[in-house]
Amino acid sequence: MLLMSTLTSTLARDHLTIPGNTGLSYKQHPPEGEWDAIAIGSGIGALAAAALLAQRAGKRVLVLERHYTAGGFTHVFHRPGYEWDVGVHYIGEMGAGSPMRGLFDEISEGRLKWNAMPEVYDRITIADRSYDFVSGAERFTERLREYFPQDGAAIGRYMAHVRDAARASGLFFTEKALPAALTRVAGPLLRRRFLSYSRRTTALTLAGLTGNRELIAVLTGQWGDYGLPPGQSSFGMHAIIAQHYMEGAFYPVGGASRIAASIAPTIERAGGRIVLSAEVEQILLDGRGRAVGVRMADGRELRAPLILSDAGAWNTYARLLPPDAPGRAQALAEIERIPVSMSHLSLYVGLRRDPGEPEFGDTNLWIYPGPDHDVNLARYVADPEQPFAGLFISFPSAKDPDFARRHPGRATIEVVTLAPYGWFERWADTRWKRRGADYDALKQRLAERLRAELERHVPAVRGKIDYCELSTPLSTRQFVNYHRGQAYGPAVTPERFRARALGPRTPVRNLYLTGADAAVMGVTGALAGGGVAASAVLRRNVMAGR
Ligand SMILES: Cc1cc2nc3c(=O)[nH]c(=O)nc-3n(C[C@H](O)[C@H](O)[C@H](O)COP(=O)(O)OP(=O)(O)OC[C@H]3O[C@@H](n4cnc5c(N)ncnc54)[C@H](O)[C@@H]3O)c2cc1C
Repeated sequence: MLLMSTLTSTLARDHLTIPGNTGLSYKQHPPEGEWDAIAIGSGIGALAAAALLAQRAGKRVLVLERHYTAGGFTHVFHRPGYEWDVGVHYIGEMGAGSPMRGLFDEISEGRLKWNAMPEVYDRITIADRSYDFVSGAERFTERLREYFPQDGAAIGRYMAHVRDAARASGLFFTEKALPAALTRVAGPLLRRRFLSYSRRTTALTLAGLTGNRELIAVLTGQWGDYGLPPGQSSFGMHAIIAQHYMEGAFYPVGGASRIAASIAPTIERAGGRIVLSAEVEQILLDGRGRAVGVRMADGRELRAPLILSDAGAWNTYARLLPPDAPGRAQALAEIERIPVSMSHLSLYVGLRRDPGEPEFGDTNLWIYPGPDHDVNLARYVADPEQPFAGLFISFPSAKDPDFARRHPGRATIEVVTLAPYGWFERWADTRWKRRGADYDALKQRLAERLRAELERHVPAVRGKIDYCELSTPLSTRQFVNYHRGQAYGPAVTPERFRARALGPRTPVRNLYLTGADAAVMGVTGALAGGGVAASAVLRRNVMAGR
């Protein structure tokens, strides 16, 4: 394993502005003046809300990001010759005419371009059997029926369930933006249909459709996308993700950092700004319990009559609000009843590629040791030496037609798997890159195992690997500030969708949540979170017609 380059740590320490990076350094450009709103964090949820408030109401939004780079999970990081995305492997619903694509086009004013992945965007391997996910609902259904000719009727019922649940989710999330008075009247009706799907687990719902365990394993082969196996996850979540990718998958041209870079000018033209290495310590309230500003980690206070938090619901209620904030205890208790989502390991691999040499792959690979995802996970969590419960192998350089221009002769691959935070908790209080020899040894062991799996499943990489670096849940904690290194906020159990605290409105006046916890996880989920947050603020549905 190569050691991490010192470049990015130096940048982090010195609060320099990285050339070509989106946003300004807090230290070099301390924000001054008046702001209409402050957004805490710069994930897609904050950027979307800030851009919509700028476009629809001319609001000057100050976006404060604690990391030294913008974008939250859409940020990328670099090592000499290489660049990797962190939380953007593939995004659905980006075809022309899709409402979510329309929203991205609007807030990026057309600057963000998308590259379609191949027709087979995911391949599910269970032990030694592989199944392709092809884009297009009809083609997908046909392919499934070829794999499982005895289950044609069950497959049809499954597709209808997914379609209906995903459609119902639109009203469910829209309801979250409504004023309290309207919610009391119309809320139950708007929520009911989606809740009828989300209150059951994925496993229970699928067991009601088919008894074929292999078919169930294949249909739930993307469970890593939402981080909870079928026995624990809400079918509502499963349906949202399955429908999300049904028409195929896309990747941002120029890499994931283009997401923040292409939205920033929309925010800035209205007078807003994105500021980096700017950690918010507390949300300030006035004597009447209304949010009026933030206190930064260096003690400075910044004022605005509207605060949007993209830092996650738990961070907002447990860390950022003062203990006596109105409604805080109740909201926090509700959030804490939901377990946090699973955390992950990611092996970032850099490879040398000869000119003209074909890509190492382009279809995402999902690899499972057996058909029962819940059993696979339980066995692995109990004993890390057991086979990985699931592996996801992604080929980001192959998805980005602009990568070769930026990094000629190179290619990148990521190997992702889940890993409980508990395995790493004892090093939580150590410093990044100085966590100790035993931590390094554990990382080394896990990295070697992941690399061996990569070489087994993608033999073309043998002899070509130039660089490997492993991130652990402590890296996620360090860089994106999720307290247990979790990948997706609160776990997507049936209870998660009943929680009223997960939505844009908070009990504190002038404070709104945005991002994944205002709607649902995923890039477009958090984008929708930005949409419902802006709608709640402006008291009109900015997502109307989408
Ligand atoms: C490994 C992995 C792979 C993924 N792959 C995909 C994928 O392929 N497709 C997809 O659609 N989704 C994917 N996701 C999920 C998706 O990336 C996220 O759900 C989404 O980006 C979350 O956006 P957000 O706006 O809610 O918040 P985040 O992106 O989490 O941003 C929150 C920001 O707030 C900042 N912050 C926190 N506290 C403070 C503070 N006190 N002061 C200032 N700033 C603060 C953080 O530093 C962070 O930048 C993936 C996630 C992971 C972890």
